[in-house]
Amino acid sequence: MIACKQVAKALAEHRYYELPWWRRIPMFIHIRLCAMCGEYHQQVIDMQRGVKCYLEHEDTGDIEPACRLSDDAKKRIEAALKEQQ
Ligand SMILES: [Zn+2]
Repeated sequence: MIACKQVAKALAEHRYYELPWWRRIPMFIHIRLCAMCGEYHQQVIDMQRGVKCYLEHEDTGDIEPACRLSDDAKKRIEAALKEQQ
């Protein structure tokens, strides 16, 4: 399994969805299995996907209906915020 630092570095330098599949798969596995950084990096990926969605729809004027967080993403963010309090 790749190290937490490798996942953090890759997500800091690249957008997850722009990475080739052979780099995303080990990261995906790490994020699912790692208790230390998995939840945080899943939120980073959710945010990157949200930005991508926003940029794709920015010019078409249909940003609001198309760019909403999934219910799963909302629950993860809500849980993380409660954990911080
Ligand atoms: Zn980790």
